[in-house]
Amino acid sequence: MKHLTAGEYIAAQQEQIDRLQAELEEKTAMVNFPDDFVTTFRMMQSAVHNNAAAHGWWETDRNDGEMIALMHSELSEALEYIRHGNPNDDHCPEFNGAVTEFADVIIRIMDTCHQRGWPLAEAILAKHEYNVKRPYKHGGKAF
Ligand SMILES: [Mg+2]
Repeated sequence: MKHLTAGEYIAAQQEQIDRLQAELEEKTAMVNFPDDFVTTFRMMQSAVHNNAAAHGWWETDRNDGEMIALMHSELSEALEYIRHGNPNDDHCPEFNGAVTEFADVIIRIMDTCHQRGWPLAEAILAKHEYNVKRPYKHGGKAF
């Protein structure tokens, strides 16, 4: 096996990074999402919030820290499902427990953003577009 010089090693590494970056750009070319994504997302968000309000959860304003803690709690529930083999959810048995808890996270985020008037759908599109343009592994991060 041939040993590479430091210069050859660096060149080979750069070549690999360039190849992976080109693959990434090809795979993540920004899709033109239909304009109705925002409308459809907002409709679901409104339904989620109206349901929470109808069940009394917004009779008084809730602070952002409380809402974030509740979002965390749903992720902890997902972790517990996975720690126990990820059995099906008790209330929606056609889905595994982890995915239903992930749904709860999103529902809580949708509810909170709707109540606050924060443009979540638009932020998702903007962040996705930003992420598409980021370098491979964001400049060498391990994860
Ligand atoms: Mg839950």
